Amino acid sequence: MKSIYGMSLKDLENYFESIDGKKFRSHQVFDWLYRKKVTSFEEMTNVKKDVIDKLKEDFSFNTIELIQVERDELTNKYLFRLNDGEHIEAVLMKHDYGNSICVSSQVGCNMGCKFCESGRRKKVRNLLAGEIVEQILEVEKDLNEKITHVVMMGIGEPFDNYEEITKFIEIINDNLGLGIGARHITVSTCGIVPKIKEFADFPYQVNLAISLHAPNDELRSKIMPISKAYSIKELMDALKEYYDKTSRRLSFEYVMLDGVNDTEECAIELANLLKGLNCYVNLIPYNETENIEFKRSRSDKINKFYDILKKNDIDVTKRREFGGNISAACGQLRSKKEEQ
Ligand code: SAH
Repeated sequence: MKSIYGMSLKDLENYFESIDGKKFRSHQVFDWLYRKKVTSFEEMTNVKKDVIDKLKEDFSFNTIELIQVERDELTNKYLFRLNDGEHIEAVLMKHDYGNSICVSSQVGCNMGCKFCESGRRKKVRNLLAGEIVEQILEVEKDLNEKITHVVMMGIGEPFDNYEEITKFIEIINDNLGLGIGARHITVSTCGIVPKIKEFADFPYQVNLAISLHAPNDELRSKIMPISKAYSIKELMDALKEYYDKTSRRLSFEYVMLDGVNDTEECAIELANLLKGLNCYVNLIPYNETENIEFKRSRSDKINKFYDILKKNDIDVTKRREFGGNISAACGQLRSKKEEQ
């Protein structure tokens, strides 16, 4: 049964319109869900009994269950069980500017990036919007604080689950929903070109991050199979189109793999590729995992790479690291549960 948290305000309006013509009930229900944070339909005391009964027939309440939390100073990792017994994870990062959550968008992932631990398990299914919304609600409940920032950088490829992730954004951005500002929401993609084009027309001012990780097709196709489907030229053309339509600054993720993509030549090539584009590059120190042979670039190499980009007028940051101690860092989200 569908989670009530997967319904946008508009969806609920349509739903109530069709059952008794009383659209205002959608506001009441949203108020109970996102302001008063009730955990059952019965608690919605200003909603008529027969309407509650109908809601109970059509929707379920909690569709994900928090089963484990690992805590570090600035990072918590949350393990959830889904209704069908699958597991997913979300990670909380406490920044000085607020609480940021990294949510999963799929069970498993089909993108097959060679260096990514989260993607070693093939996609089992897409998460529903409600299951993604509930990750935030569960973490807020655990913290007893509000989540202010959302990144879609957990398990899964968001653009391989376009309908549900856009619905998710609609729900959490709604002022009557979680009220998370669009500029505080980031979608990260390995570069599914047709979806980037579609996203250019999505009417929310959210951020787009692209996992680039290599400055040319030859190298990229060695580490990211998606690059066989879409060349860097096609990707950059789609991003220019996206920028022309949205004027939103792009961010590129570049994971630093020792001896693979961290040479000075790569830095120069990357600078040339991005020249003139309103963007910045986020250099990510690679998080090594047991099962994968890639190694993290030495920090002097990362610094050199950084300097070359800077010198070529490319805005660049080095990603601050979170969660290494609890295997919650980028690429390490993979439920131990599923390995058992
Ligand atoms: N599929 C989306 C969302 C996942 S985001 C995407 O590719 O953008 C997770 C980010 O962490 C991606 O940039 C990914 O390439 C990167 N990543 C994966 N494994 C990593 C690792 N072991 N260390 C550091 N970053 C990693």
